[in-house]
Amino acid sequence: MIKLLQILHFVNILTRKVMSMKDADVIIVGGGIAGLSAAVRLKEHGIKTILLEAKNRIGGRIFTDGKLELGAQWIHGGCPGNPLFNYASTKKLLGSKVKRVGDDQEDDYPTGYFYTSQGRIIDRDISNKAWDIYENINDETEFSFKNAEPSLQGQSLGEFYKKRVKEEIRKLKKDDYSRNEMKDIEMVVESLSLMLAGYLGDSLEEASLYLYGSSEELPGEDVVVPDGLNSIINALAQDMDSNFELEKPVEKIKWSSEGVEVVTKDRVYNADHAIVTVPIGVLQTQDLFSPQLDDKKKRGIENMRGGRISKIFLEFDKPFWNEGEGNINFVWTKKDIDGANLPEEWFKTVNGFDEVEGTNDTLIMWVVGSAAEYVDKLGDKEILEQAGKLLRRFTGDPALSLPNKVRRHPWLADPYALGTWSYPSIYSTHQDYKELSTPLPSPTVPRLLLAGEHVHPQYWSFMHGARLSGIEQADKIAEFMKK
Ligand SMILES: Cc1cc2nc3c(=O)[nH]c(=O)nc-3n(C[C@H](O)[C@H](O)[C@H](O)COP(=O)(O)OP(=O)(O)OC[C@H]3O[C@@H](n4cnc5c(N)ncnc54)[C@H](O)[C@@H]3O)c2cc1C
Repeated sequence: MIKLLQILHFVNILTRKVMSMKDADVIIVGGGIAGLSAAVRLKEHGIKTILLEAKNRIGGRIFTDGKLELGAQWIHGGCPGNPLFNYASTKKLLGSKVKRVGDDQEDDYPTGYFYTSQGRIIDRDISNKAWDIYENINDETEFSFKNAEPSLQGQSLGEFYKKRVKEEIRKLKKDDYSRNEMKDIEMVVESLSLMLAGYLGDSLEEASLYLYGSSEELPGEDVVVPDGLNSIINALAQDMDSNFELEKPVEKIKWSSEGVEVVTKDRVYNADHAIVTVPIGVLQTQDLFSPQLDDKKKRGIENMRGGRISKIFLEFDKPFWNEGEGNINFVWTKKDIDGANLPEEWFKTVNGFDEVEGTNDTLIMWVVGSAAEYVDKLGDKEILEQAGKLLRRFTGDPALSLPNKVRRHPWLADPYALGTWSYPSIYSTHQDYKELSTPLPSPTVPRLLLAGEHVHPQYWSFMHGARLSGIEQADKIAEFMKK
């Protein structure tokens, strides 16, 4: 009897020991730039991590496929104020001379002519004037945040743009422009709202005018990484000794003031802390946390938008352009835009075709908003057909050679992305970002932390924002562990 009790006691101790055994100090959920940057930072602090990635590859929304970047394309802001630029430079991934988009351009106007949907070319002076107006309005959207005009809180970027276009057109002097020229300027600026939507990452209606300007633009132009952005991902993976597990979609993250338990289909992982870097679309749709996040975080997540863009590459057997001359800017009429039957007429959100760096046979087009969701589910054949029609319609050349292959990744239908890049909606506040980056259960006991581009108050949407947020959250854990 005594022997049996002794055995039971031993089994009990053993079970408790096994249950409390940690797999790592920190579990990182998601192997995009935020997760990888956090992992490398923690390693530098001497902290043991495991990174769990749902897909069969790391990189997340960075996805180089041969010469094409199906996800992120450029390092926005090539200067030492950009932590991603610095990392790529340190790793010698930017070539002997940094390549910036527009390096060989003479002025700041878009390259390529503006063509109307009737196949007419707009005079260069007129499209330049329209571009100046567009740029001025764009600059104003930044001032509203920098000048802290909270009265603008809740206003839509789209409404603001429409209102300002009308005002600017009214200001044009009749002595300077003919009636038709004025109409053309108006048409070009109105059509450029699609370009703004492309930068934002969605149609403009629900975007916050006030917070649009909270996104800080770094100097140094857009930088191209010669061997693709995956070279940065590979360098990070090397720096963390490839300490990640693929095809491990996390289903639940149980957290308390003691630690975390991360549940996947085939295993439960235990650790003292977790950094969760899944994109905003996943946070919005998947019931990941137990207990649930606090109300402030839940509201911040609900207020944000995941971004709806379809980035489509079109390859040509017989390219119709010489290098540097392939860009075509579209000018839709007001009737085309306002009367568009969306999402079926998805092609009416395309603002033109651009050449792709590093290729001589590929153009790119962007589809935005509900149209992007629609097009993500369309077959390549339909896309090719429509793209061909667009090219011939706008150039006015019925014999123009047509694209024969589509390359893309359906980011909106991808269950581990569910969007392209985040942006604040008219319901968001700047405080939402602070709430999202505050650890749980409290700043002094950081057990559960969120990271990713959607968490950074200044560089949301960008790769460098994602990287910074991962590093900052890692440092909070390191600080806690030191104490
Ligand atoms: C088409 C496109 C173009 C872009 N262009 C640019 C650009 O030119 N410049 C720029 O700076 N930014 C650009 N971006 C945005 C940029 O890609 C992102 O800001 C950045 O890559 C986000 O990194 P992240 O680590 O926050 O998220 P992600 O890269 O999305 O990483 C999150 C990871 O979590 C994984 N995951 C999701 N759910 C789970 C789960 N349940 N369990 C485990 N893992 C999970 C995902 O698979 C993913 O790997 C672009 C994005 C897209 C889609």
